Amino acid sequence: MNNSELLFERAQLFIPGGVNSPVRAFRSVGGTPLFFKSAKGSILTDVDGKNYIDYIGSWGPMILGHCHKPIVETLKKATENTTSFGAPTELEADIAELICEMVPAVEKVRMTNSGTEACMSAIRVARGYTNKEKFIKFEGNYHGHADAFLIKAGSGAITLGVPNSPGVTKGTAQDTLLAPYNDLSAVKKIIEDNPNQIAAIILEPVAGNMGCIPPKKGFLEGLRSLCNEHYIVLIFDEVMTGFRLSKGGASEYYGVTPDMVTLGKIIGGGLPVGAFGGKKEIMDMVAPVGPVYQAGTLSGNPIAMGCGYTLLKELNENPSIYSQLEENTAYFEKELRRVFDYKNLRYTINRVGSMISFHFDVDEVNNFDDACNANADLFKTLFHGVLKRGVYFAPSAFESLFLSTTHTKELLDNTVLSIEETLEEIL
Ligand SMILES: *Cc1c(COP(=O)(O)O)cnc(C)c1O
Repeated sequence: MNNSELLFERAQLFIPGGVNSPVRAFRSVGGTPLFFKSAKGSILTDVDGKNYIDYIGSWGPMILGHCHKPIVETLKKATENTTSFGAPTELEADIAELICEMVPAVEKVRMTNSGTEACMSAIRVARGYTNKEKFIKFEGNYHGHADAFLIKAGSGAITLGVPNSPGVTKGTAQDTLLAPYNDLSAVKKIIEDNPNQIAAIILEPVAGNMGCIPPKKGFLEGLRSLCNEHYIVLIFDEVMTGFRLSKGGASEYYGVTPDMVTLGKIIGGGLPVGAFGGKKEIMDMVAPVGPVYQAGTLSGNPIAMGCGYTLLKELNENPSIYSQLEENTAYFEKELRRVFDYKNLRYTINRVGSMISFHFDVDEVNNFDDACNANADLFKTLFHGVLKRGVYFAPSAFESLFLSTTHTKELLDNTVLSIEETLEEIL
């Protein structure tokens, strides 16, 4: 047994499934998860000393690579002042001001410790603001693991929600209404069927939790007008897209302004941070200004704020980061298409900026059903083939890949070569 296998055995004795978040366990691709000990740039080193090119980037935060020097230095300095006050600091004002400057849809912002907290709080605020209870989410969109989000469609996508995790009550599920992603008419129908009852529509403006699925032309704009017409709070869950597609996230990228935005991942530079923000008038519903309660012992933690601030500031001051990411990821896409075409594969590649995913045996992927129809077995085989060759993709066909500025053309070429060799071996 190698060290990862030994550690996995031990971890499983004391942690459910040996992991602290389910995808990490490799259940959907099979095999033993790798345990890592260090990383630099976009290279990961596992506990057996083997190196991998990293396409997860901690699910987003490593947009400038692992152990980015300014971040490491900030952290070293920050720890000398204490790890937590539980009282206000200057840094909290600094990062809030910076977020409001970078994200046009955000006029005021509250920090949390995770994307989950950000999303569940945003829904609570939207309910408090509109005095309505139901909300619409889209199949295959992920908004963290709060009860209200763990709902999938019944037989018909537009029926009342049925909880898809034990522990979520029917009462909770009933207030979550589901629509297929990219389907504006389904949303219209739900609104008609639930007059004056819908507080919010929450969505990933580019879906990243069923592979990468961009919004169809007019989808975001259509949701914006429906929300205006029906007094519904439009929430963009930008936990994944925020600071990744542009410094203002997807709302800036597509020029559609939601009422609220949730943030996470990049915002903490790798430390546990989330945030929700939006229009002043809505955010002033939040305690202690308003009646909607929301709090956190470690929210705005000085170490996490320092780390996030350093990263966001660099992204804000260097717009060329985004053009470089776009250029390199477009190159990666072109090379993937060359190899897949050469191998006569039927496939779809979806890409927005530095988010990219491929699905096999489908001609387009616009929603969750399309993603489910893709050939997951071929993905699994490819996953293990490239892993063996030193490329670490997300261990699920339903994840997006993320590039960082440290993914050089040389590393991308190596990756494409690993894919080509794997396909050579299996087809
Ligand atoms: C990761 C993610 C979340 C949850 O964030 P956590 O920090 O894992 O709680 C919410 N929404 C989206 C779109 C995400 O990708």
